[in-house]
Amino acid sequence: MTKRALITGITGQDGGHLAKLLGDKGYEVYGIIRGQQNPKRRATEEEFPYVKLIEADLLDMSSLVRALQIAKPDEIYNLGAISHVGYSFKDPQLTADVTGKGCLNMLEAIRLTGGEKTVRFYQASTSEMFGGLEYNRPEKGYNEESQFHPRSPYGVAKLYAHWITKNYRESYGMFAVSGILFNHEGERRGVEFVTRKITNAVARIKLGLQDHVELGDLWPKRDWGYAGDYVEGMWRMLQQDKPDDFVLATGETHSIEEFLDLAFKEIGIDDWKPYVKQNPAFMRPAEVDLLLGDPTKAETVLGWQREVDFPGLVKLMVQHDLEIESQNK
Ligand code: GDP
Repeated sequence: MTKRALITGITGQDGGHLAKLLGDKGYEVYGIIRGQQNPKRRATEEEFPYVKLIEADLLDMSSLVRALQIAKPDEIYNLGAISHVGYSFKDPQLTADVTGKGCLNMLEAIRLTGGEKTVRFYQASTSEMFGGLEYNRPEKGYNEESQFHPRSPYGVAKLYAHWITKNYRESYGMFAVSGILFNHEGERRGVEFVTRKITNAVARIKLGLQDHVELGDLWPKRDWGYAGDYVEGMWRMLQQDKPDDFVLATGETHSIEEFLDLAFKEIGIDDWKPYVKQNPAFMRPAEVDLLLGDPTKAETVLGWQREVDFPGLVKLMVQHDLEIESQNK
């Protein structure tokens, strides 16, 4: 029988990768789209004509109940969130409501529609729940047992969603799992994130469309993987016999400076300093200095393996942006 999946956050980066993966696997895919005249609706319909879009909002549980009655999903992927760390400092309450309570609304909607024993639920948790090695220093990077210490309203809201997912699993026996994903990037990443901001600027500098890029702090380090690899891990988590939580990461960490090195080398520039200006507007009230994940459990239990490495990721993103920007020229 054809499996049915419902994705919240279908218009986001991971939603796009996942819609493609599930479509290729023959799923009937439903996506929740928020708001009248959502500007991303058309692009989503054009790229994924097989996805059935349902208007609903994570803030409105009755709309989620209706969405579940229409989609009758076997699997739900809760990717919808206010997902930008910097923005969450500007709008902490909305972040708490959407990113934190939105997950609870969906879990309750599943129970109210009698799905707690049949629906498999994936919650998009994040390495931002850990918050930096000064609080917790595991040898090989953070794993599923590491202590949390979120450093932003986003991280705090995601931690609530993480625990309420676990709580519904323990309280009601739901197949509800949480994937703790380290930063994952790619050609679908929004330009508000540092990797895409850099690759987009690098492409535009190469094409003579701009002469510099303004960034915040350059020393923070992240464990950056490719989003296309990570949605495969999400899917695998829902195919297990027993619900459990998993870290997805590369096991490597790199600074923004290292990302700049590789991105500018891709267009033949060895010294990027003349092209990068620091602007305090892009610095955060609290920063996560270093993120490094240990994917051992996902590799051994799920058989998950990332395919794109760090240089491969930077290259893929710069090449994509060169192609897009040269069309805009
Ligand atoms: P995050 O790890 O989820 O916060 O992903 P981001 O891509 O937004 O940020 C990664 C790191 O880059 C953080 O340490 C930011 O403070 C840093 N950073 C430096 N300059 C910028 C910038 O101009 N934009 C963004 N988004 N981040 C920046």
